[in-house]
Amino acid sequence: MSEKVLDLLDEMTFKPDNFNLTVLFNACAEVANDRAVKIGRKLFDEMPHYYRNDIVLLNSAIHMFMKFGDVQNAEHIFDSMKKKDIITYNAMMKGYVGSVMSEKVLDLFEQMHLKLDNVTFIIIFNACAQLANDRAMKIGRKLLDDMPNDYQNDSVVLTSATHMLMKFGDVQSVEHIFDSMKKKDIITYNAMMKGYFENDMCEKVLDLFEHIHLNLNHITYSIVLNACTQLANDRAIKIGRKLVDNMPHNYRNDIVLLNSAIHMFMKFGDVQNAEHIFDSMKKKDIITYGAMMKGYVGNVMSEKALDLFEQMDLKFDNATFVIVFNACAQLANDRAMKIGRKLLDDMPNDYQNDSVVLTSATHMLMKFGEAESAERIVKLVRNKGIITYGALMNGYNMNDEPWKCFKILDEMKQKDIVLNEIIWNILIGACSKIGMIRRSQYIIDQIPLHIQNQKQIQNSLIHMWSKCGSIEKAQNVFKSVYDRDNVTFNAMINGFGLNGMGSEAIELYRQMPNNLHDEVSHICILNACSHSGLLHQARSIFNEISLKTEKIVTVMTDCLSRLFLFDEAEKLIDEYEKTNPPNFVMYMCLLSGARNNRNRNLSEKIYNRMKCLFPDQKQRLLSGAVLLSNIYSSVGEHQLAKNFRSNQIKELGTKVKIGLSWTDGSGEIVTFKAHDHSHPRSSEIHVEADLITSELIEDGYKCDSSWVTRELHEEETIESVLCGHSERLAIAFNFIQRPIPEFIQITKNLRVCGDCHEATKRIARIRQREIIVRDANRIHHFYKNGQCSCQDHF
Ligand SMILES: [Zn+2]
Ligand SMILES: [Zn+2]
Repeated sequence: MSEKVLDLLDEMTFKPDNFNLTVLFNACAEVANDRAVKIGRKLFDEMPHYYRNDIVLLNSAIHMFMKFGDVQNAEHIFDSMKKKDIITYNAMMKGYVGSVMSEKVLDLFEQMHLKLDNVTFIIIFNACAQLANDRAMKIGRKLLDDMPNDYQNDSVVLTSATHMLMKFGDVQSVEHIFDSMKKKDIITYNAMMKGYFENDMCEKVLDLFEHIHLNLNHITYSIVLNACTQLANDRAIKIGRKLVDNMPHNYRNDIVLLNSAIHMFMKFGDVQNAEHIFDSMKKKDIITYGAMMKGYVGNVMSEKALDLFEQMDLKFDNATFVIVFNACAQLANDRAMKIGRKLLDDMPNDYQNDSVVLTSATHMLMKFGEAESAERIVKLVRNKGIITYGALMNGYNMNDEPWKCFKILDEMKQKDIVLNEIIWNILIGACSKIGMIRRSQYIIDQIPLHIQNQKQIQNSLIHMWSKCGSIEKAQNVFKSVYDRDNVTFNAMINGFGLNGMGSEAIELYRQMPNNLHDEVSHICILNACSHSGLLHQARSIFNEISLKTEKIVTVMTDCLSRLFLFDEAEKLIDEYEKTNPPNFVMYMCLLSGARNNRNRNLSEKIYNRMKCLFPDQKQRLLSGAVLLSNIYSSVGEHQLAKNFRSNQIKELGTKVKIGLSWTDGSGEIVTFKAHDHSHPRSSEIHVEADLITSELIEDGYKCDSSWVTRELHEEETIESVLCGHSERLAIAFNFIQRPIPEFIQITKNLRVCGDCHEATKRIARIRQREIIVRDANRIHHFYKNGQCSCQDHF
């Protein structure tokens, strides 16, 4: 209609009078497009001088300029007015609220000496709601308390008071007003429900919703759908489903509501219903696709997210990038890598500043194992916050570069970023991976006490200290946990197991309340028995377990194989395979046991069966092949071992994982490969390693040639190959430190070889230093008396 008023203006041949002008200003305010702004300004500029005292006319001019967002002109008129009424003030204040300048509303309100009308109350309440700071709370509450009785029945005034108090978080006062209201319309209910929703009280949204006996409008639907999504419990699922089923026909084309409904069903895990709505929609926007794809990712169905992404023919928004990157990260397969990389390459420049988009790209690249590309992306993020740093550090842990997390920690400290428990947890994870007691202590000392005392952090600390080989520190944390849950117990039991303390593990497992026992507890305790050779106890615990899952059977197979009880282990596997598909790890346990038993025939039989059952698992088969070639070497068949190994590498087309050892240098973590010459003090390290070898030989040590797993180069001897293993270099590195560390600690990414195990026992005794070595499997404590805590069960 207002547009038509403006059209009429063009046809007007006479000069508009004050009445016409008021109508025209109001029309311009309502339309507020470019044309209206132009006309409105011109009309005002050309307004005859004698109208400049017409308060009604000027009030509508203020209203118009405020609607244009032209606060300055509105203020100019206001200041020029000699007489102002309540409508003048209301127009100004309403304009300020519209321009999000509510402090100015309160300034004006405090200057005003007029009787307030109901509009004033509504505007002030809205301004106070917008600010929700101390001043606004004081003014808003006082105004409400002093409100004359005749407004106590005005449902519009009360509804805006409701909105304000909800913004203040003062739910109790709102409920008081709500109960006192005689007449309530759907807007009142909506204000209440929205307030509950914003105050994180979604159950109350549903309580109130069930009491409504009015026609719902689309705002009601939107609030209740969102509340159901947030809760996603049985009650919410029931109400949410019913709401969608009974939705009136005219809302079935409301794209915003349908998008919320899709989001809700996805959150319920009800993918089918979400797909049903999606298929029924005639018009879909980018938010519709976003809700679907995000839902697929949330339900671990990222392939479907990519299918949809490839069908989509709309301009992407930043949410699209985030969701597709997350889907690709979740999958991390060939297709996902291709799509994810392409999307990142084609990303328009304006997203290069969006830290949320870049952070999800970082996470994706880390999942792809492309740490360097991820680092390049992180460099683009201008204001790096805790989430970006978190994604980066998580990525380093994922890609076996945990020591880089400490550099990031320094960077965060320099920027005075306050770390939260999520970041500390990631750092504790890095400490666990590295496994160095001194380094970990240095990091842990920086965690504020209120975070250190959170149970989730305490549970991580128990795990971390165990992985560092300090069972004492792990036990201290365990004792300090006030209400221990299954995770607390499992971490401690696992810690005992890793450190070869089987009986302590069993004792704690028996102390643990029965209702806390879960699959992880069973795995941890059987593992602990297995690592300490406690067969009898393992058997009786295994028999007590009612639900023998895949992982539980695997650990039991490992336990039996370590003790060379191959018939029993194979029987267990046969039994398992009657109802389940075969499991690769079970066969690896058998093969590894057969290797330690130097049982050539059995090993060949097992390896051939593995190749037959798991032809696609090439990387894992290769580790089997390495074990088998070890067996050939150990029975003196060096040529066969060599040929077999190189044939399998060729046939399987993969690479053998490189062995790495790291240790705690002064202030940094130092990493060694076999025969490594990269360290600046490398020549000193090799001299020391040779010195250690000659001391070993003097002590009566002979190289165990069965651990040589490759062909010798011309200048090499069996001794030089074995003594160049990465852990030997790491040990030598410790002995050239001044002072020599009180105890030496090394972590290795593969299993320690038998020759190094024997040598390390002797080094600990000869050099009188305790050496802690963690390998891929367990922790060895080499004592000064020449014994290892694993009692040679490795
Ligand atoms: Zn070795
Ligand atoms: Zn050992």
